[in-house]
Amino acid sequence: MIGIFGGTFDPIHYGHLRSALEVKEIFNLTEVRLIPSAQPPHRQQPVATAVIRLQMLALAICDQPGFVADDRELQREGRSYMIDTLRSLRQDFPNQSLLLFMGSDAFNKLTTWHHWQDLFVYAHVVVLTRPGFKTQHLDDFFAVRLIADAQILANHKAGRLFFQPVTQLDISATAIRQMIAHGKNPRFLLPDAVITAIKQHRLYQ
Ligand code: ATP
Repeated sequence: MIGIFGGTFDPIHYGHLRSALEVKEIFNLTEVRLIPSAQPPHRQQPVATAVIRLQMLALAICDQPGFVADDRELQREGRSYMIDTLRSLRQDFPNQSLLLFMGSDAFNKLTTWHHWQDLFVYAHVVVLTRPGFKTQHLDDFFAVRLIADAQILANHKAGRLFFQPVTQLDISATAIRQMIAHGKNPRFLLPDAVITAIKQHRLYQ
């Protein structure tokens, strides 16, 4: 099983990294592919360039076995749609279960994503929730795909929806960017190597 963790990563921080490590262990994933969105379709464009966001991500995960910095969204022109990314991953990994991870904030907007229903053709969707989270009412499309037993994710390559509680550190890239803009020290919210890169490129000032 392969985990897919998309985001703007502007910059990557310990909230992302902690969740990625927990799901790697919970689902016994062969690898977690962290995929920076080159041109996010649904939000303001990132502050750092896609190349620098990818560099920061690579620095953050370089000593973590099983974590892969995946640059496929930087190799495409135009907006970075997850559906195109999943199609391309499915070509690379025809026989593996693909687990697309997202926070509940992202899941709540999933029906605005380009060809969102087709995401389930290529991958399972695993929503990362806070411990104690209760599932809200789900539309039929989701309700019929919802599973309670994680084992089913391994037995099928795609198509199911699962909610997984993980530790969610209250860290956001927005807060980190604001802290830097105000001259505050963001240390211990993100890896030191990423902070060094931010300083080198004079980002977020
Ligand atoms: P921004 O503040 O710029 O919006 P962000 O910190 O929310 O950024 P993104 O790159 O937009 O980070 O998020 C990528 C993915 O990581 C999303 O699925 C999001 O739900 C999840 N995520 C963001 N922050 C955390 C966190 N603190 N803990 C766990 N997951 C997170």
